[in-house]
Amino acid sequence: TSVDQGVRLEFAVADGVPRLPEAERAEILESPGFGRHFTDHMARAVWTPAGWGQDAVVAHGPITLSPAAAVLHYAQEVFEGMKAYRHADGSVWAFRPDANARRFAASARRLALPVLPEAAFLRSVEQLVAADVDWVPGGGENSLYLRPFMFASESFLGVRPAAEVTYLCIASPAGSYFGGGEITPVSIWLSQEYSRAAPGGTGAAKCGGNYAASLQAQAEAAEHGCDQVAFLDAVEHRWVEELGGMNLFFVHDDGSVVTPELTGTILEGVTRSSVLQIAADLGHEVVERRVDVAEWREGCETGRITEVFACGTAAVVTPVGALVEPGRRSVPGDGGTGAVTAAIRQRLTDVQQGRAEDAHGWMHRL
Ligand code: PMP
Repeated sequence: TSVDQGVRLEFAVADGVPRLPEAERAEILESPGFGRHFTDHMARAVWTPAGWGQDAVVAHGPITLSPAAAVLHYAQEVFEGMKAYRHADGSVWAFRPDANARRFAASARRLALPVLPEAAFLRSVEQLVAADVDWVPGGGENSLYLRPFMFASESFLGVRPAAEVTYLCIASPAGSYFGGGEITPVSIWLSQEYSRAAPGGTGAAKCGGNYAASLQAQAEAAEHGCDQVAFLDAVEHRWVEELGGMNLFFVHDDGSVVTPELTGTILEGVTRSSVLQIAADLGHEVVERRVDVAEWREGCETGRITEVFACGTAAVVTPVGALVEPGRRSVPGDGGTGAVTAAIRQRLTDVQQGRAEDAHGWMHRL
């Protein structure tokens, strides 16, 4: 089934894949947590210079990899993260999977990996969710988290783009980021020493190496009692970029909503672009520009900045309570969840969960 055009990849579901007994699945879906439990199936395709092939939805399980597989040595890998939701009528929908497909293609190009055509990416997700539809939890902010990824599976120790690449998509039921409790603001440690991405580097791509490079800074944040780490630009150590896994927004006292512009060193979040649209829909002026870290500090002190929030697929929209640096804490407003943050969060989760009109055609029925 070797093909050049991904549109012809069908990702047929294999017969006879064992399924977890219903009682055990039900117990997991009661409180799924995040990233710990996986569905029965996974989608797979393999690329060689002849094109994409071997596409199927197969049993989720360990994969065989040569110890010389290039990904293990040179980290030629990209991934995505997105969610599918069960609406009140039982139907299942993915949020903007086309945007994830495009970002996956852009990331692949940056890492010299083959592009999986958008239609094939969508087909893999549709087929996987069709096979595992009973794994999509309903209610609250529960969802099925989808993790498409692609890596250099060729057994070869030379440093060059691999001639065999494996694409997989796995799925994991996810509960609310806040465990169903109150939304609690997160504290942010300002990384003093480490940069996440440099000009000309891979910051705009969703590749595993970026995350490996952020772990030390994240550990430092935890040592200082913070939930997340914020990175500044690598050249001037002055411009606010993003968190380890979320984009940042600032609400000003004139009602404008500001986010760092895309410079090539930050990831273009699907949530970020959705928040920009929703903020405009709610009547806010939206601004993409550089944000000086001094503006963050001083804006909290003067009241010019009234709210700060972070956004991403996992946590949707999360208020930022404090920016923490040695000897300094900058807290916007009263440090709680601001009204603008709450309204944007509400609108976004209402669309995702089918409670509000999908005015921008973001939901994709699975
Ligand atoms: N920045 C980084 C570094 C991320 O890993 C993520 C999560 N994918 C985001 C921002 C938010 O992106 P999205 O809204 O597409 O989840």
